[in-house]
Formats: sequence, C-alpha cells, structure tokens
Amino acid sequence: MEIQAPKGTKDMLPSQAYKWHYVENIFREISKNFGIKEIRTPVFEHTELFLRGVGETTDIVQKEMYTFKDKGDRSITLKPEGTAPAVRAFIESRLFNEAQPTKLYYITPCFRYEKAQKGRYRQFHQYGVEMFGSKEPSMDAEVMALAMGVLKKVGLKSLKLNINNLGCPECRPKYNEALKAFLKENYDSLCETCKTRFEKNPMRILDCKEKSCKEITKNAPIILDYTCDSCNDHFSKVKEYLDVLEIPYSVDPGIVRGLDYYTKTIFEILNDDYTVCGGGRYDKLIEEIGGPEMPAVGFGMGIERLIATIEDENIEVPREDDIELYISARGEEGKMYAFKLAHKLREIGVNAEINHAGRSFKAEMKFANKIGALFNLVIGDDELGTKEAKIKRMKDREEFNIKLDNLEEIKQIIKSQK
Ligand code: ATP
Ligand code: MG
Repeated sequence: MEIQAPKGTKDMLPSQAYKWHYVENIFREISKNFGIKEIRTPVFEHTELFLRGVGETTDIVQKEMYTFKDKGDRSITLKPEGTAPAVRAFIESRLFNEAQPTKLYYITPCFRYEKAQKGRYRQFHQYGVEMFGSKEPSMDAEVMALAMGVLKKVGLKSLKLNINNLGCPECRPKYNEALKAFLKENYDSLCETCKTRFEKNPMRILDCKEKSCKEITKNAPIILDYTCDSCNDHFSKVKEYLDVLEIPYSVDPGIVRGLDYYTKTIFEILNDDYTVCGGGRYDKLIEEIGGPEMPAVGFGMGIERLIATIEDENIEVPREDDIELYISARGEEGKMYAFKLAHKLREIGVNAEINHAGRSFKAEMKFANKIGALFNLVIGDDELGTKEAKIKRMKDREEFNIKLDNLEEIKQIIKSQK
C-alpha cells in the first residue's frame, strides 16, 4: 500500500523550489543589510523551555506541542516557534557578554499540533528575527520596517501593519483586573480553555478563536486605556519612528498575539486579511529563561503563508535556470566525450546535462526541449574529428561556433547569449 505524508505536512516539491529560494534569498539579503546574523538551533528542545518561554496559558502550550519522552525518559518537544530556542542559545553561549544589541535571524521548521487547513500546517516554516539588548523604541520600529521591507520586496501589495501596546508588568495587572471584572458575568459561557486562562492570564481570552468567546470579548475594555506613562511614551516614539520612515500603520487595540511573553509593542502584518507575520517586544523573556535582565524585540513570518499569498496574488517569481546546455552525442565515443565535457563544464559553473536515459539521438532533441535547456550541442564524428562544433540557442535556433577544448569560451557564450 502507498504511504502518505502525515496529516498537516506538505512536501516542497522540486517544481516549487524556486519560490522557496526566492523568498529565502530575500530574507538573507535584507537581514544582511540590517546587520543580522543567522542562528540555527536544534529541531527539539527540553519541554521545559517552551513551558517557560512560550507560556502555560497559550494555545501552543495548552494544545499544540509535539511532546514525547525520548529513550532516556526526558521530556522533549519539537520546536513550535523559534524565539525561545534562540534565547536559550543566546544565554547558553553567553552571547550577552558581547557588544549589544545582538541581531539574529533564523529560517526554521516549526511543529504545532493544529487542525490542518489552508495556511495552517503541523509542520510549517518561519523566518524569524530577534534583536536582543535594546530597549529603544527605534529598535521596535526597525524590526517592523525590516518585516515590511521583506514583504514589499517579495512583491506583496496589500500590506497592512497593525500595532498595539500591551503594557508592562507595572500597568498590565490593572488592566487584567478590569478585564476580569468585565468577563466575570459571562464566565460560564467561556470555552473550557479560556476558563483556565481567566485567573492566570485573562488577556489570552481576547485571542481565543472560539466563536462564543469572540462574542463575549467584543466590547471588552481595551489595554490602551490602562497603560502607564512609560509604556505610552515608548509607544508614541515607536509611532514617530514609523512615521519618519513613512510606513503606514493602524493601532488595533484588539490584537494580543498568541504568545505570553510580549510586553509593550506588538504587531501583525496582514496581506488582504491574511496574517503573514507577527511579532513584538518581550523584555522579560531572557530573564524568564534564566539569562540576565535584557530587553528584546522580534517577529516570526510564516513561509507557507507567504508563498500562498504570492500565488494568490499572481506575483511573478523569477524562475531559476534549468539546464543551460544539453549535450547530445552519437556513438560510443561521442557519448564518452559528452560525459567528460559535461563534467568539465559543470566544474567551471555551467549547468550541463547529457543523455542518461538511453534515448535515441532523435528523442534527445525532444527531451532537451522538454527540460527547457537553453542551448544544445551535438557531438558526432565530425565534431570529434575537428574539435569544432556549434551550440544552438533553443529559443531561436541561432548557432554559435565553438572549439570543444575551449571550455571558457563555451561558458562565456552560454552566459552572455542566454
Ligand atoms: P494564528 O493566530 O494564525 O494561530 P499565531 O499567533 O499562532 O497565529 P505566531 O506564533 O505568531 O502565530 O507565528 C507567526 C507566523 O507563523 C504567523 O503569522 C503565521 O504566518 C505562521 N504560522 C503560525 N502557525 C502556523 C501554522 N500552523 N501553519 C502555517 N503557518 C503558521
Ligand atoms: Mg496559532
């Protein structure tokens, strides 16, 4: 019987690869412009890291983690997000002793046991950025500008940046009290998960996806009416910095985001109502995970959602060259020559292919067309004798004279006459 991929997972097939490379190249290029270096952390971590780092009242910890015991009876969890592991590595390697801020990015698979549907998978990928060691509002704005810049460069045109201020441990308790007072009347109608959030983290209820909970929270008090002077001042400056860059945004007091660790600024970027990026400031997380007191701000961007958006919007992604030169050969000697020539050309950076399928000489031309080869070269008795040949440009059949032993010339013609 045929075996299928597990529910909620998706293969990246070769025909899709160029889209992934396209966005990944943009992530890497723009990260470099912002002085951000890559970090790679393991796919699995001790479960404890996410309990502390993501928060016990989040959907992720309450419902979505892939947690299991390994053969040594340790509780292990496949990473559901990239921030907590990046913080763990930052602390473990004592990167906080170096000059700050530390700017990190990652491209990583994430695992969440979710109801599989369009744009929601059990294994998905994130491009994420974390800036450690700066409490300045300019850093919040830089992170948002970076995320917007990436999405713009990718080609998205209906981008919307929504921001909010979640306050800090000084002012949020007052808001939590007001929220609880408001929710109390409808406590019995809350979903079971939200009931457990009521005492521990009532703000989490605002992010619940259950219809009944959404209905209850519709007219809830908003955090912006409770934030302290210092948080308000920070938020105003963030907005000023965004204004300076002429990045449009809306303040949306309804967004609270899915992770417990946020403080002050949080944001979401939507493209036509579709959330592709979420992030914010998390000034207490590094301490929470056992590091020094150190502020931080970052975001995570869903790569599958980004690619789905590219497809929905019909954004043209430049295709990568398939085969540059297809070498057809006649006879045993020709075949051997073609085999060696292809190898030599590959060594100097030409994408060359030969007949590995035992096709007839006639069928080779059809094949070269099918794989989209840009040029074709025939090696027959004449060519072997004179060491002179022609390479034919497939799209218009124009021919270029070459000498078979001048590899650099062949390369130069191919690269310049594509
Ligand atoms: P949502 O509210 O949609 O569940 P979230 O708050 O859980 O999102 P984050 O944890 O902030 O999302 O993750 C950042 C980004 O990762 C999201 O904006 C989204 O693009 C992507 N993402 C999150 N969960 C999934 C998933 N299960 N499948 C695909 N992409 C996802
Ligand atoms: Mg979620």
